[in-house]
Amino acid sequence: ELVDFGKFYHHVIDRFEMNKDTHIQFMRDIPEESIWVYMDKDKMTQVMDNIISNAIKYSPEGGTITFRGKMLKKEQKLLVTITDQGMGIPKDNVDKIFDRFYRVDKARTRKLGGTGLGLAISKEMVEAHKGEIWAESKEGKGTTILFTLPFTNDKRRDNA
Ligand code: ATP
Ligand code: MG
Repeated sequence: ELVDFGKFYHHVIDRFEMNKDTHIQFMRDIPEESIWVYMDKDKMTQVMDNIISNAIKYSPEGGTITFRGKMLKKEQKLLVTITDQGMGIPKDNVDKIFDRFYRVDKARTRKLGGTGLGLAISKEMVEAHKGEIWAESKEGKGTTILFTLPFTNDKRRDNA
């Protein structure tokens, strides 16, 4: 299905913003122009839900979550980033968070719940859409989850 990603992105964020607690701020930096992406909307909703619920779960009181979207026109790729100001992830563990059942600190995460499958599933789904997903993090400063998706330039051409 061909989806206007900006609209879709705002829609997903709105749903979280309506239910979020008032101690977390949301910031958005998303292009206004249409970005057409072929995707399975349900699956990509699951990806977004996983990433955003982690960002909320690991955010401190008064923290800001920043939602960005950027078109990398030369590469025909859309870059989506979701940044929090949470506890972060130790350098050596950053790539492991996409492994099945991996959780950074069993004691720390036990009380926050979860099975450790969210990001593993997200990675599978992003890759099924020919995208990539990775994380950048600084302990004590916060975490950014980044993923790419190919976009198509011209909606008309694809509908012809
Ligand atoms: P589930 O998503 O299945 O409910 P989960 O959230 O523990 O459980 P993942 O979403 O796969 O599992 O995340 C794996 C681990 O990566 C988490 O347990 C946590 O330790 C770490 N992690 C993920 N996102 C963040 C984040 N934004 N800040 C800090 N740590 C994170
Ligand atoms: Mg999770």
